[in-house]
Amino acid sequence: MIDTLIRGDCVATLNGVGAWEVAISGEKIAAVAAAGTFAERDAERVIDARGKLVIPGGVDPHLHCKFPQPLGTTSAPPAHVSRAALFGGTTTLLDFAVWERGETLQQTLDQRDADCWRGQCHCDYGFHVLLTGKIPPAILEQIPEAIQAGFPSVKMFMTEVRPERSNWRLDLGDIWEVLQVLSRHEGIACIHAEDNDLVMHMYEKMIRAGRVAFRHMAEVHSSLSEDISYRRIIRLAQHVERAALYMMHTSAQSGVDAIAESRARGFPVYGETLHQYALFSSDDYSRPNGQIYHTYPSLKTKRDHKALWEGMRTGTIGCIATDGICTPLAVKVSGDRIDNTVGGNAGVEPRLPVMYTETVVHRGWPIERFVDLVAANAARIFGLYPRKGVIAAGSDADIVVLDPARARSLRKEDLHEADYSPWEGYEVAAWPEITMLRGTVVVEAERFCARQGEGRLLRRKIPEAILNGPASA
Ligand SMILES: [Zn+2]
Ligand SMILES: [Zn+2]
Repeated sequence: MIDTLIRGDCVATLNGVGAWEVAISGEKIAAVAAAGTFAERDAERVIDARGKLVIPGGVDPHLHCKFPQPLGTTSAPPAHVSRAALFGGTTTLLDFAVWERGETLQQTLDQRDADCWRGQCHCDYGFHVLLTGKIPPAILEQIPEAIQAGFPSVKMFMTEVRPERSNWRLDLGDIWEVLQVLSRHEGIACIHAEDNDLVMHMYEKMIRAGRVAFRHMAEVHSSLSEDISYRRIIRLAQHVERAALYMMHTSAQSGVDAIAESRARGFPVYGETLHQYALFSSDDYSRPNGQIYHTYPSLKTKRDHKALWEGMRTGTIGCIATDGICTPLAVKVSGDRIDNTVGGNAGVEPRLPVMYTETVVHRGWPIERFVDLVAANAARIFGLYPRKGVIAAGSDADIVVLDPARARSLRKEDLHEADYSPWEGYEVAAWPEITMLRGTVVVEAERFCARQGEGRLLRRKIPEAILNGPASA
């Protein structure tokens, strides 16, 4: 017996987009078949999705829940963020387990799950390991064990980001050591690339000149810094056999160019950008509460937008993430200088509808490309595919029905993230009618019906094809 049968005329499956029937049994997709294969009586429930778009649940590979913030606060916890994610059609979140000096990596990972996520998340989730500062040899030795345990991605900062910090950045020697361990044990490095010398130089220079208003952020966290740092880390990785890089929050043409050149030479380098980097520019910093558009490094120019969109079209940029840090407006706008503006943003909920609107509706791109950008590629790169990110027999039944009849102007009151949204007034061309997580309908007609804590920790393994070269991801 089939639990749920979804019938649609625009279903994005492994075998293309078209009229398909998706049969769901328990938590899995049992079959994807041509229209007319199954009868109504074969299924417990039939969902008629004709006239709508059926896609795999979104995978957001980069956000920060319950992360320390100013005014003695932390960003919203998984229960809150995952609820918003499901409303918007995202069913998998990848967060960070931040290693603290004195802990083993195993302790870091266990504590992150026990303290914040286990039993508290509505959708499925996983962690990148986040390493900061000076890396002791003992930690390098623990990385293979973490990879084996299902945590094969490690984030590293090349900059302190802000001048008051002194223990986030890894020096190039430590990054080199981590890359060697990752490459030998089938891991991938996630990089926050900015040139620390240039960023700190610009802080000093701008502060000396009294140009401290945050609207000048793009001069500090600049495209020159992105150029130098991307080329430096990519060059380093090219000296390590099979060192795969995932370049987080690419913001500038210089970053896109550096990724494209390395990929063209056959190196496994993958690009991520954020929906707000692709759609807001540094001009938006001058709007009222302009901080709400900001996350580090910084928004850039319209010319950079062109490069980001071209990168998304050609595959140089494979993933759209949120870099979500969900806070109230009061926290988000608590700083207004180049050296104290709060990073991260609200945006996990509208990510899928915004990207559908921009890619398929505004630019006429194939639905497959949209699905790659918001779900499939992140699943491929981070070792969740084909369990996540695809509608195929055997995959988890994480499915979203996007309904063009639910097109709307976004309002913070209708979203479930914060008391502000950078997407206020944005016209989305569709909105989820149904979000399904492992066969269970968790949102239907904008009613939330998930049970708290149903989300599962995902253990991952990076596929060979991703490590061996620039796989089409
Ligand atoms: Zn970052
Ligand atoms: Zn981040």
